[in-house]
Amino acid sequence: MQLPVADNRRVRAFAGRLLRTHRRPLAVVVLLQALAAVAALALPWMLGGLVDAVAQGTTRRYVDTVALWLVGVVLVQSVVTRYAQRSAMLLGEEVFAGLRERFLLGVTHLPLSTVERAGTGDLLGRTTNDIDRVQWAVRFGVPRLLVTSTTILLTFGAALLAAPLVALAMLVGVPVLVLATRRYLKRSAPAYRANAAAYADLNGVLTESAEHAATVDALSLGAVRREQADAAVAEAWTWETVTLKLRMSVFFWTVLSFSLPVAAVVVWGGYLTGAGLTTIGAVTTVALYVIQVRGPLFELLMWVDEVQVATASLARIVGIELIAPDREPGTARPASEDVRAEEVRYAYREGEDVLHGIDLTLAPGERLAIVGPSGAGKSTFGRMLAGIHPPTGGRVTVGGVPLVDLPEDELRRHVALVTQEHHVFVGTVADNLRLARHDAAEADLVRALAAVDAAEWVAALPQGLHTEVGSGGLTLTPAQAQQLALARLVLLDPHTLVLDEATSLLDPRAARHLERSLSALLTGRTVVAIAHRLHTAHDADRVAVMEDGRIAEIGPHEALVAAGGEYAALWESWQQE
Ligand code: ADP
Repeated sequence: MQLPVADNRRVRAFAGRLLRTHRRPLAVVVLLQALAAVAALALPWMLGGLVDAVAQGTTRRYVDTVALWLVGVVLVQSVVTRYAQRSAMLLGEEVFAGLRERFLLGVTHLPLSTVERAGTGDLLGRTTNDIDRVQWAVRFGVPRLLVTSTTILLTFGAALLAAPLVALAMLVGVPVLVLATRRYLKRSAPAYRANAAAYADLNGVLTESAEHAATVDALSLGAVRREQADAAVAEAWTWETVTLKLRMSVFFWTVLSFSLPVAAVVVWGGYLTGAGLTTIGAVTTVALYVIQVRGPLFELLMWVDEVQVATASLARIVGIELIAPDREPGTARPASEDVRAEEVRYAYREGEDVLHGIDLTLAPGERLAIVGPSGAGKSTFGRMLAGIHPPTGGRVTVGGVPLVDLPEDELRRHVALVTQEHHVFVGTVADNLRLARHDAAEADLVRALAAVDAAEWVAALPQGLHTEVGSGGLTLTPAQAQQLALARLVLLDPHTLVLDEATSLLDPRAARHLERSLSALLTGRTVVAIAHRLHTAHDADRVAVMEDGRIAEIGPHEALVAAGGEYAALWESWQQE
């Protein structure tokens, strides 16, 4: 399964909304840029006037005055341009920050089942490559697009105003430009895709040969591998040639479309001047405008190309928001701490139930161990009990309210899942703990750490609670990381915990230590322990034996052993080991 990708209409609507929310800074950028452009446009205008004045004969004083004015205009233009650039960059950053926050919020609230089904690779690609591409376009592309298009429009306007007849000649480049870029955009996308694919292929062949050189030698595959490499190189070469030709051609036509108008303005202007329809000064002004507009025009074309690439990435990012949520929080709040499963079913794939209607009522404060063969559905049921996935049939309630009707932070104050995963987030120890309760006071953090027997080693860290940990910071041992996770649970303080083999992967010494931390956490709470070792089951108040997605037996250890059923057999064989 693939995560959804937004269609063009949705991407356009999204971009439109994004720009509308930044209407005001956007207006400021355009206004400042317009001012800067007008200042830049004053130069050719004044130069044109100067040419006419000199042609008709003027004083040196007049020329000096105009020159002084020119310097002033250049100064004004530089200052305004600076502020225009500044606000454009600020706008780009703001838009991008908003985009990133929205994306992150979406990603962190995705239904786990969807992410698991699609695989994390797709999501990772979107959070890295796609965000990078969009970031480049938003930070630099959007501001530069605004700047260049404002400048181009104003320049054409000014040329028309200065000498409408002469300015007509500016248009000769337009058809060439439009045809060339349309042709390029249409052909370049598939060519670049093929080019990238050819390189991926080449990479694959070369890396494989290098990494498995011993095997290649042993099987005398040298010649074969060389042939494959040659073929891959030839393919990459072909596509490189194709894209290079495309670039050369678009470059040629673009440059031509930029130069043509200059020549056209001069020739056509010369004719008009001869016919007495305009002045040399006006022709000078328009010719300078044509030269001046080439830079922004070229930049605009470049960004149009970049923005096309970024739009494809944006479609994948916006696509994340199309994933339907797996739950809608309601307003009902639990009246008690009773956790119940009623007729719970679950199917990872439609029509293939792995849980077949499980009923279970947990007595507050009890300890229930779930045992059974691997693949029986213990972990799946544990995730239902913790509200990680909504069941596909039946319901799990706390105090009469379905778990999946509770908002996430409320849910975690009732039930939490403890697994072996113990990721340390980049940040301080305190940051790691406050993920559970962002407003926890430092004293609460210390208490939580003390509760899981971790206060001592945290206090011994270079900066105590404020020591940076995680990648780039101090590396914690797996046991320490697990203790942080347990301390987070102390802070969350849920009345019911679902334990999925919380300690079995650690080395025995660390495990014993952790079990102390864990039992401190478990005291006074309802606990469902998914046990793979029967001795933990032995200590529980009740044991549930799961088989094929059903609870086959349930009751206290002694009763089950006495009953002589499935559990009794398991227990017997375990004791014999
Ligand atoms: P247990 O914890 O008892 O070993 P699980 O709950 O992990 O059992 O698995 C129950 C059944 O669901 C198994 O048949 C397993 O193959 C299947 N299953 C577990 N996780 C997934 C998943 N993410 N996608 C598809 N099937 C799964």
